[in-house]
Amino acid sequence: MKIIEVVTSSDHTKKYYFKIVGSSDAHVETCLLHLARYGYIICVSSQIGCSQKCEFCAAKNSKYTRNLSSSEIREQIELVIEDNKQLLTDEFQVTYMGSGEPLSNYNSVFDSIDEIRAAFSNLRKVNISTTCPDSGKYCFENIDWKRYYNFLHFQYSLHFTQDTERCRYLSPQLMKISEAIAYLNRLSVLLNDTYKVNYILFDGLNDGREKVEDLYKIMCMTKNAILKISTMCEIKGCNLVPSKSFERFSEYAKSIIVETEIFKSDGTDVNAGCGQFYNESII
Ligand code: SF4
Repeated sequence: MKIIEVVTSSDHTKKYYFKIVGSSDAHVETCLLHLARYGYIICVSSQIGCSQKCEFCAAKNSKYTRNLSSSEIREQIELVIEDNKQLLTDEFQVTYMGSGEPLSNYNSVFDSIDEIRAAFSNLRKVNISTTCPDSGKYCFENIDWKRYYNFLHFQYSLHFTQDTERCRYLSPQLMKISEAIAYLNRLSVLLNDTYKVNYILFDGLNDGREKVEDLYKIMCMTKNAILKISTMCEIKGCNLVPSKSFERFSEYAKSIIVETEIFKSDGTDVNAGCGQFYNESII
């Protein structure tokens, strides 16, 4: 793999475009964030394009080609570290939040986690963001979770409070919300970690007051979870738009759901924000 382009955002987020040498596959995208609260985070891709077609995501309009291998995932991290020598010594995290649904490629994802953990003692934590596809059940049931105690963190991309809406706007092959939460509750104990329930606000679609009440009921089913309410990053050609009721919705949610945090993506001006990965038209 080699770097074909690096762009830096006004907030110093770096977006990397890689080409797999000798392959006719399009490209791979990765970013490096430096957040005041969490330090350095390398956000990697796990698929070329994405096997899902979430309505709000740039990957929806691109061609899903294949899963990345563990070495191709590991190489994204190695090349970012090589380009940012401070990451040889400073602590960093890796997050599986670039293009691709990590649990649809969980063998390579977990192999790559093991490989980078062995190679970099300054890797502090790994985060996996997932919509919880049906195929993720095999992962939830078969991984030896105690190996990742105090090391692995999950984020559940919920975004809609009804299973039917999730099937329509994210993917038809998803676990039911209740089922996904039952798995994540169990994992939070095995991993000794809280997990996040992500909810991006879309204008007129999931930002009504009644949705806060639905979210309250869902959060009552969780154990050790935090609700993360996020702004939508604008994507060219996307039918969904960021909510105009973000502040009002967030305030109401915070008033009835104690464990709530508000999130705004970094790096949006270089397409490194949430849902901005794998837009083929920009390469
Ligand atoms: S949000 Fe994630 S799972 Fe959905 S299409 Fe984008 S990359 Fe794939």
